[in-house]
Amino acid sequence: MHLVFATLIFIAVVIVTVVLFGGWVLMTVIRAIARLLGGPRPEPVARRLAYRPPSEQRVVRCPQTRCMADNPVGARFCRRCGQAIEAGRAARGATGSLR
Ligand SMILES: [Zn+2]
Repeated sequence: MHLVFATLIFIAVVIVTVVLFGGWVLMTVIRAIARLLGGPRPEPVARRLAYRPPSEQRVVRCPQTRCMADNPVGARFCRRCGQAIEAGRAARGATGSLR
């Protein structure tokens, strides 16, 4: 009786393991097939990260001649060197007149 119970538990553990492993294998196969069907195009996440043209973003250039870092419009200080940025002069037409 004890042996039957232990065997049932063992079988249940084996079934769970097989199901989990089978799901993992299925996911891997589906991903490989999707990659084969998709061809050599880059992954959308990488494309989204790479696609950020700085020319289209509204940026304010740091007035420090050694830095010249691009900062988001409305920034009060340069995020690279900490130099105060006259945001009002450059961003007045872009971000409204809140400040
Ligand atoms: Zn700077």
